[in-house]
Amino acid sequence: MKNIRNFCIIAHIDHGKSTLADRLLQATGTISDREMKDQALDDMDLERERGITIKSHAIQMNHTHEGQAYTLNLIDTPGHVDFSYEVSRSIAACEGALLIVDAAQGIEAQTISNLYLALEHDLEIIPVLNKMDLPGAMPEEVTDQIVDLIGCSPTDVIPASGKTGLGVDKILDAIINRVPAPKGNPDAPLQAMIFDSVFNPFRGVIAYYRVINGTLKKGEKVKFVNTGRTYNADDIGILKMDLVPKKEVSTGDVGYIISGIKQANEVKVGDTITTVANPCTEAVKGFEDVKPMVFAGIYPVDTEDYEELRFSMEKLQLNDSSLVFEPESSAALGFGFRCGFLGMLHLEIIQERLEREFKMTVITTVPNVSYFAYLRKNPDEKLIVNNPSELPDPSTLEKVEEPFIKAQVITKSEYIGAIMTLCIEKRGELQNQVYLTQDRVELTFEMPLAEIVFDFYDRLKTVSKGYASFDYFPIGYKSSDLIKLDVLLNGEQVDALSALVHRSNAFNLGKKICVKLKELIPRQQFEIPIQAAIGSKVIARETIKALRKDVTAKCYGGDISRKRKLLEKQKEGKKRMRQVGRVEVPQEAFLAVLKLN
Ligand code: GDP
Ligand code: MG
Repeated sequence: MKNIRNFCIIAHIDHGKSTLADRLLQATGTISDREMKDQALDDMDLERERGITIKSHAIQMNHTHEGQAYTLNLIDTPGHVDFSYEVSRSIAACEGALLIVDAAQGIEAQTISNLYLALEHDLEIIPVLNKMDLPGAMPEEVTDQIVDLIGCSPTDVIPASGKTGLGVDKILDAIINRVPAPKGNPDAPLQAMIFDSVFNPFRGVIAYYRVINGTLKKGEKVKFVNTGRTYNADDIGILKMDLVPKKEVSTGDVGYIISGIKQANEVKVGDTITTVANPCTEAVKGFEDVKPMVFAGIYPVDTEDYEELRFSMEKLQLNDSSLVFEPESSAALGFGFRCGFLGMLHLEIIQERLEREFKMTVITTVPNVSYFAYLRKNPDEKLIVNNPSELPDPSTLEKVEEPFIKAQVITKSEYIGAIMTLCIEKRGELQNQVYLTQDRVELTFEMPLAEIVFDFYDRLKTVSKGYASFDYFPIGYKSSDLIKLDVLLNGEQVDALSALVHRSNAFNLGKKICVKLKELIPRQQFEIPIQAAIGSKVIARETIKALRKDVTAKCYGGDISRKRKLLEKQKEGKKRMRQVGRVEVPQEAFLAVLKLN
């Protein structure tokens, strides 16, 4: 145990975490140069393409230092706020963290939020100044930022480059010399914390865990404390580039367990594994049952594909336990599903996977957060509203609550004004403003989560010319003056276009939505009025003029092939169209609210 080191790498996105991890794998001979493909740890296609780690992974490296053999377990953490609970569990499985900062960029929002998580768990922090090879690297300035942030000495900061391999040996030395060996009692009852799980179509769920106390033996009966379920430890072992089976996995180790679990949602990240024969008295602290934060309707483009969509969603849920869904029907869109996601990135991933892996073309409705509604006649009962069109009649409502977040923005001082304006427009309240260096400032806001869902990232990027980074975490529900804004197309209310908005924004938004829809909905054979309404009161109106002629009429003479091409083009354009009443509505229109400016 004294020669084990468990560590993670934390960094703002794109600061080079995956690349540096690859260098460590190479330097320790865990992966040969021949096997090396970029970012060995990011193994889902989507992760490679997007260059982000969606699921975390763990890998064991062996390294000899001053004649002694060490076992180094690298626990990779996901790099996006949607998955911050998983990050916190991965961190809780470690004793140390490499804090990577891009020498050309300096400290960013996720550098700080991840650092705080690591400090909360008392991890030893090893600061690494990465991308030293870049001509734009600013080693002195960024070292100063790091020293200010964590209170270390400048000599503790390791200059490195994932590209050239600079500093990799020093990093390995620091992991061995500075990260504490695991503590814990190998003779105590088993306590192993699950920090991740993956679904394998042949073997079922593979759970990854860190043994805190005790020893897990192959074939033992085990119990997952928080879910209360028991299993047989059919196959256990450690993680290298592949799973390496072992007879036992002991205190301080990072390992896997396969026990015939067929559903991803049976295994909860943060749960504790113990043995049935000699159970531990307490679960490992910090377990949470993560709840979806963002909801949206997903409907098949072709109503006949409903069953196939259900089948695809069930398949997806097998390996993504954080996806939840239930059937819903919409007057406008027919039968579909109301789905819950961890955040906007998660929503995009699911939509993309439905299309790529299941060849489903779907319509996604405007995402919304989960609201709490309280009725006047029974103000103690909390109604959970995951779909704006299900909000009870306003005249019966005592109050509506919505989730709030604490948001942290790091930017250059010249953009403070523009960012404050944006945050206030987004119903944010400034809590704190701290200068990290002369021209870098950290702003802390409280604001409704719903405002993040609506084009916040894009706006922030625009107003700061890209010089702002952003992170947030939920802080609970607060009551808000929210009302339902409805949209009518051709006189018919379209439930899938309803949104809950703050009263003070309603007129402005109503107007903008009408303008946007006019832009997005193609002209048709008849005139289409677009109206925004609150209750029965229409607050804005636009009109889409009728189309005069068929497009094919443009083709003079009888050029059949050209005519056919045009018709095919029209058909293709229709792929993501839904008939709503008499009106053909394209997918983009259902997300129009997200793209207002
Ligand atoms: P992650 O998001 O933190 O995992 O970052 P990646 O490892 O995916 O790296 C982000 C980008 O920076 C990629 O295009 C890498 O090729 C590049 N990169 C990573 N490390 C270095 C480095 O040391 N020097 C240079 N010049 N580029 C790097
Ligand atoms: Mg990465």
